[in-house]
Amino acid sequence: MPYLFPPPAIPSVPIAGRAERFAVHRVYCIGRNYAEHAKEMGAAPEKGTPVFFMKPADAVVSDGRDARFPQATSNLHHEVELVVALASGGRDIAVDDALAHVYGYSVGVDLTRRDLQAAAKAKGNPWDVAKGFDDSAPIAAIVPSDGRHPQAERIELRVNGVQRQSASVADMLWPVAEIIHELSRLYELKAGDLIYTGTPAGVGQLQPDDRVHCSLESWCALEFGFLRG
Ligand code: MN
Repeated sequence: MPYLFPPPAIPSVPIAGRAERFAVHRVYCIGRNYAEHAKEMGAAPEKGTPVFFMKPADAVVSDGRDARFPQATSNLHHEVELVVALASGGRDIAVDDALAHVYGYSVGVDLTRRDLQAAAKAKGNPWDVAKGFDDSAPIAAIVPSDGRHPQAERIELRVNGVQRQSASVADMLWPVAEIIHELSRLYELKAGDLIYTGTPAGVGQLQPDDRVHCSLESWCALEFGFLRG
C-alpha cells in the first residue's frame, strides 16, 4: 500500500565506534530526580512518585548539529542529564532484570521552556508544550554499555565555558534500574527507547548565541549551539 506522501525519516543517534545507528523509538524523561534540583524548583526534595513525561522521537539533535532556538519562550533552560538507551524492553520489568535491557549510555540536555512550564504548573496543565518541542533533546553519541554502568560518574554542563551544572549520577533519587522498572509498569518499553534520567541543580537560561558543552566523565561529551536565523 503506497503512502500518501513520503514517510518521515526514522530519528536516530550515532553510536560511538560503530557504523550502525541507534533508531529512536520513544524519548521518556523523568523529572525531579535530584533532591537539590527539586529544591531549586520549589518542590519537595524527596523520592515520592516518579514524574514522567515524553518528548517526540524526532526532538533528538545529534551528530554535532545545532538546535533551532525554540519559538514561544523568553526563558529557555538547560537541564543536563544521563541518557539511557534500551536494546530491549517489555512490561513489568523487575528491578533486578532492568539493567540487562540497557544498550548504552549518553549525555543529553532536556531543553525546557521554563516560562511555559511554570504557567502549566500554575494551572495544573500538562507539560507538553514546555518539554516536547522541536529540537528539545540534544544528545551525544551513545556509548555501548558492554556490561558497564555509570555508578558515581559526574555529569557536567558549561555555557560559554562557565560551569553551570555538575553532579554525581549516584545522587539520583530514582536510579536507572528503578526508572526502567517504574516506566515498564506504565508503558511497554522497546528497543530504541531513550530515557532522560533527570537533571541535577544549576539549571539556568540559554540565549541564542550560547555554546553548550556537556560531559559524562570519560564516557561521552556533547557540544551544541543554536542555528542562526
Ligand atoms: Mn529534565
